[in-house]
Amino acid sequence: MATFFTTSIEYLKGVGPQRAALLNKELKIFTYADLIQHYPLRYEDRTKFYEIKELSEELQYVQVKGKVVSKELVGTGFKKRLVAYFKDASGEIELVWFQGIKWIDEKLKSGQEYVVFGKPNRFGSKFSIAHPELELLTLNNEKEGSIYPVYPLTEKLRSRHLDSKTVSKLIRDVLTVAQEKIRETLPVDVLQKFHLVSKKEALLNIHFPKSYEHLAQAQKRLKFEELFYIQLKLLKLKIVREEKFKGHVFKDASLVTTFYNNHLPFELTEAQKRVIKEIYADLRSGKQMNRLLQGDVGSGKTIVAFICILLGISSGAQCALMAPTEILAQQHYNNLKRYAEKMQISIGILTGSTKKSERRVLHEGLQTGELKILIGTHALLEEEVQFKNLALAIIDEQHRFGVAQRSKLWNKNFSVVPHVLVMTATPIPRTLAMTLYGDLDVSVIDQLPKGRKPIKTIHQFDSHRLKVNQFLRDQMTSGRQVYIVYPLIEESEKLDLKDLMDGYESVCRAFPDVAVSIVHGKMKPEAKDFEMKRFVKGETQIMVATTVIEVGVDVPNASVMVIENAERFGLSQLHQLRGRVGRGAEQSYCILMTNYKLSSEAKVRIETMVRTNNGFEIAETDLKLRGPGDLLGTQQSGVLDLLIADLGKDGQLLQRARETAIEVLKNDPDLTSSKNKVIYTQVESMRSNIMNWSRIS
Ligand code: ADP
Ligand code: MG
Repeated sequence: MATFFTTSIEYLKGVGPQRAALLNKELKIFTYADLIQHYPLRYEDRTKFYEIKELSEELQYVQVKGKVVSKELVGTGFKKRLVAYFKDASGEIELVWFQGIKWIDEKLKSGQEYVVFGKPNRFGSKFSIAHPELELLTLNNEKEGSIYPVYPLTEKLRSRHLDSKTVSKLIRDVLTVAQEKIRETLPVDVLQKFHLVSKKEALLNIHFPKSYEHLAQAQKRLKFEELFYIQLKLLKLKIVREEKFKGHVFKDASLVTTFYNNHLPFELTEAQKRVIKEIYADLRSGKQMNRLLQGDVGSGKTIVAFICILLGISSGAQCALMAPTEILAQQHYNNLKRYAEKMQISIGILTGSTKKSERRVLHEGLQTGELKILIGTHALLEEEVQFKNLALAIIDEQHRFGVAQRSKLWNKNFSVVPHVLVMTATPIPRTLAMTLYGDLDVSVIDQLPKGRKPIKTIHQFDSHRLKVNQFLRDQMTSGRQVYIVYPLIEESEKLDLKDLMDGYESVCRAFPDVAVSIVHGKMKPEAKDFEMKRFVKGETQIMVATTVIEVGVDVPNASVMVIENAERFGLSQLHQLRGRVGRGAEQSYCILMTNYKLSSEAKVRIETMVRTNNGFEIAETDLKLRGPGDLLGTQQSGVLDLLIADLGKDGQLLQRARETAIEVLKNDPDLTSSKNKVIYTQVESMRSNIMNWSRIS
């Protein structure tokens, strides 16, 4: 039975080796099952026939029944086109072809009735449709219109005549045979509880919906199933880990008490206190902790990390903190060193640029256990880095690491696996967190330290640059420093670099008496570092830069962030950039510069930035605008290659799927009950599928 679905599409009638190779390569379709799971991108409504008098330019696509009354070739050279005059009882339109004229001309018969499908365009008082789809009017298509599937395809496939219609036909052929073999993959009680249609019903209607109602039912069922199995996998991972891995037990909090009583530089916020409690409960439990700590930029995650480290060291263990970039690692090191020195705790830093001789000292300190805290980049993951007794690994800015690297930390051959705390400043909407980090527990710092003045965000058009410059001058006169950021997007790197250099020159011209720094990704690390340091020390007042400053830099005196071509940045990137200011006591500003022409999406982004400083609200909007695949760094996770569910829209369904998975695993952790046999079978078949994949690629 299973063999039917794993049959190579090569053997499907109308495919053959060449098309199969193309489908493998372009769409990763290898088997009948893959083909069936190649779901439509959208649907065209061909349930309705329009009368010609009803046409308007607002309509995306229309379907019209009528007769070709006459046709003619018009124009010469590349303006040559075939025009057919097409009539129904209510009026007349023109059908126009610029390409494939000869072929169409032979096929198209005057006096014949057709069904025409396409986008209407207005020319004067008349409508025309360019390159319409045509079908002879038959008894079949005359009455019953339908909802047409449109499949995601590539240019290459289309150029080899594998268009949506062809793919649709292939799927229909497979489904005709497959439908009797389709196995149910959700248990009956779940189907009933959520009023879900059967798998067979869903697959038939996702490709060939009988009605919009049927389509909605099919989508709901398939989305639920997809989300359910992802959640089941993540939760299972969590349970297995909890059972398998013991954690170091941190019972002693004496160093924390000493730190609180003597060196705590400020009163902790309620949110900080709460997450410390949550983390401490994990660390004492005897189970290995896997926790995500979310907190907006500036919410004070560093001190929380340090207090967790103190808990580890009180119990005689070592702790590590890993950051995504060298700058950020250095900054963590500088910050934590201040605290560590007061507590007389040894601390070291290891990055790609650490010298050999220094490395040797670090390695030794780690192995003897003398070095208690190690800060670094992914250099920490190298083979030679061996700890005596690593008990807590903190990972900052997780989204840049990805799940695979996260698990590398556990594979370091420990007798007891270290606790893992993942910190992220990219606020992640709940739905996304449930999927990306569904195997982790979550703590949130949802409060900024007292006395922070919210950053004022202003949108300005380029034409008001003089006004903006005057504002910058005033700010600098009262001692503040300024960032001016330009976009640098890879595809058009050269152009962007030119923009940046032009920008730099005009800044220098506008502020002849001010020292200006410039930093971008194409500079040598030493040069970059040198400029950065000048700015940090206050030797320069303006920093012109690309998004390289997005993470890391902390210059409390820099209180103005100007973002040029702000319309070209994504929301979360804008928010991260804005987070570079607002770190000192002074009122901070973020100025978004754009020209007058803004897409509607860009408008939403700018308005959102002006309206709110709340990272979670911004992340939600971002998710709705762009979809999860585009959010910073999430592509690498793999979890998000969803076939049909949309994390931006299907939050409620995801919530239910997760609850159901929790329920199932709670009552039947090994899926041995007869009721859950379908789940067990499906999990096994998905697992063997993954193995097939790894053999192929
Ligand atoms: P992030 O969460 O972005 O890593 P940091 O830990 O860098 O934030 O904290 C930002 C700034 O706020 C630092 O200068 C830090 O010393 C300060 N800070 C953190 N917590 C508090 C607090 N409870 N009260 C006052 N200042 C705080
Ligand atoms: Mg930080």
